Amino acid sequence: MVTVTLSHIRAARERIAGKVEHTATVLSPSLSERLGVPVHLKLEHRQTTGSFKLRGASNAIASLSAEEKARGVIAASTGNHGRALAHAAKLEGMRAVICMSRLVPQNKLDEIRRLGAEVRIVGDSQDDAQQEVERLVAQQGLVMLPPFDHPAIIAGQGTLGLEMIEQVTDAGLVLVQLSGGGLASGVAAAIKGVSPGTKVIGVSMARGAAMKASFDAGRPVLVEELPTLADSLGGGIGLDNRQTFAMCRDLLDDVILLSEDEIAAGIGHAYAREREIVEGAGAVGIAALLAGKVKAKGPVIVLLSGRNIDMNAHRRIICGEAIGERAA
Ligand SMILES: *Cc1c(COP(=O)(O)O)cnc(C)c1O
Repeated sequence: MVTVTLSHIRAARERIAGKVEHTATVLSPSLSERLGVPVHLKLEHRQTTGSFKLRGASNAIASLSAEEKARGVIAASTGNHGRALAHAAKLEGMRAVICMSRLVPQNKLDEIRRLGAEVRIVGDSQDDAQQEVERLVAQQGLVMLPPFDHPAIIAGQGTLGLEMIEQVTDAGLVLVQLSGGGLASGVAAAIKGVSPGTKVIGVSMARGAAMKASFDAGRPVLVEELPTLADSLGGGIGLDNRQTFAMCRDLLDDVILLSEDEIAAGIGHAYAREREIVEGAGAVGIAALLAGKVKAKGPVIVLLSGRNIDMNAHRRIICGEAIGERAA
């Protein structure tokens, strides 16, 4: 069941105009040569706050009533949603509370605090952080804006899909990151809405691919959350998932899973060949191409979704030190 459609996504684009950057798409000569078709990189890691999450957060906040804005917002986050929400709330002069697990990297935490949000660290998983969110919603009346399973968040992320298919109108295939599925739901709804023949494939890390496990089970299931280079793809999809499980199941053409070594190679290629600094999650599309896991007949768009990586970790990865399952 597809609950967020092209018209919701077009409305979201109007709502967030001027609050988010329109990011560029560039041709990658080295990846094009490797694949034998044009490969375009969507440089969304250059978005304000360093990830696409600002699109959904801005749309969700702009959709609140004045009374809801006065109560303030709260979310659980692996980092980038929290940072985006903190930024969007700050622009509106609103209170924002972000709950995170101990797995969230220090650099992401510092940035959220710097933006003036209240940060709470609880437990070892996104599910633990979510329980704290629910406690504070009940206790303090804050408005919960979850990182992916919410129509306004999905529609906001979908604006990225609109930009991509407008920039590469003849795209045959789009590679999009897949975790909770807000991004993939919105992007696929936009792409298929404009260009029904374009394939959209989700890419996750093999270590804790909750959406893929849920597809296989035929319903949302829990997976063990493990450390991964693609930390922004960590976390489950929620056992009571309402939107993204069904949307991803109905709209995605396939899912690709990657090892930690493959993700490290993606980060390295982005840096050495494309001159782009991307975080692990941001590099999985490139990694899927390098691993030979993608076949394409027409032009491909690869989304670079974020750049919020600890720069010491980045340096170790591109030097070939912190590579592979050992790093995790
Ligand atoms: C959140 C995030 C994703 C995954 O988005 P979902 O909507 O949870 O699937 C991918 N890349 C980056 C950089 C992110 O921050």
